Amino acid sequence: MSNDWNSRTKLVHGGTRRSQYNEVSEALFLTQGFVYDSAEQAEARFIEAGPDEFIYARYGNPTVAMFEDRIAALEGAEDAFACASGMAAVNGALCAMLKAGDHVVAARALFGSCHYILDSILPRYGVEVTFIDGTDLDQWRAAVRAETRLCFFESMSNPTLELIDIKSVSEIAHEVGALVVVDNVFSTPIYSKAISQGADIVTYSATKHMDGQGRVLGGVILGSKELIRGKIEPYMKHTGGALSPFNAWVLLKGLETMDLRVRAQTATAQMLAEALEGHPALSRVLYPGLASHPQHDLANAQMGAGGTVLSFEIKGGRDAAFAFLNALNIIVISNNLGDAKTIATPPAFTTHQRLPDDQKKLLGITPGLIRLSCGLEDPQDLLADIRAALSVEPGE
Ligand SMILES: *Cc1c(COP(=O)(O)O)cnc(C)c1O
Repeated sequence: MSNDWNSRTKLVHGGTRRSQYNEVSEALFLTQGFVYDSAEQAEARFIEAGPDEFIYARYGNPTVAMFEDRIAALEGAEDAFACASGMAAVNGALCAMLKAGDHVVAARALFGSCHYILDSILPRYGVEVTFIDGTDLDQWRAAVRAETRLCFFESMSNPTLELIDIKSVSEIAHEVGALVVVDNVFSTPIYSKAISQGADIVTYSATKHMDGQGRVLGGVILGSKELIRGKIEPYMKHTGGALSPFNAWVLLKGLETMDLRVRAQTATAQMLAEALEGHPALSRVLYPGLASHPQHDLANAQMGAGGTVLSFEIKGGRDAAFAFLNALNIIVISNNLGDAKTIATPPAFTTHQRLPDDQKKLLGITPGLIRLSCGLEDPQDLLADIRAALSVEPGE
């Protein structure tokens, strides 16, 4: 593979390994183990396995390796470790790096399971976590200290779509010697190469845009060879969060079309956000691609686009939001994102249901808030579906 290739070429050809049959499409190696030619070879492989020598699928597998190399090439990262899910990736990236006595600074606006790891699991093992408003650089400056080992944030938050400045936070963290771990799912690797912007480790839930068709779970941790092979690989291979070869194969095929899908989904999100802004049934439309978004300039600088998700708040709270959701014809009510199907979610009652009310309020997760992950349907059909559903009164 050539490093000069542009993203779309990397997404189609990156990491490809061909078997003796020289197949065109990536082979699915559905095997957990590998046969050695001799006892000596088995011994040698356990001493040190070469890049195309495999031992056991919890450690690595040829199909999984193709996925790792392809996504590393796209992100511009030296190395990658594929995981069973996005949460296996976040958990691995945090636990592999931390020990009792360490301090972590994390942005408060987090995916529910990320919040659980930072708020409930890490403190049990003696790691102290300080939560801040990640959009406020002064709060990062005030929170980091000599024992700060790691800073963690989602570069675009769910569901209010606030952006965090990867470059500036990385500078603040690196000044005290802390590592920066970024969950980059909402920004997508198409628009945001977080490693080149300063992050040390980037995680993705491959379940979202990489699959893009709602089929499998997967995740990946990206970073320098030193961090991935030195810290991440030993933690992941011994704790069992490996990606299944079948899921890696599905994700490889997903990566081939990811650039096209994400750009089309983003164009739809931009169109819908513009068309819905100012609608009389809505109190606000949140989308980083709108000039009215508080971090529109940062979105332009960091991503060059607004991404595939928008959120809007329906006047009338829970009743009005539920009436809207129940009146949709094309758009489905679910909680994935990055899917080919457009998906609407009421975060206050689903993904963020368990957050205490004061936290919901602080994060702007109101009863009328709807998160919309834009799919690949015709954008005019989606707009008509939304407009019709907005005109339905609660109880109708
Ligand atoms: C979905 C998601 C995850 C978790 O990914 P899974 O594949 O569901 O485990 C983590 N972070 C963010 C921002 C997500 O959207």
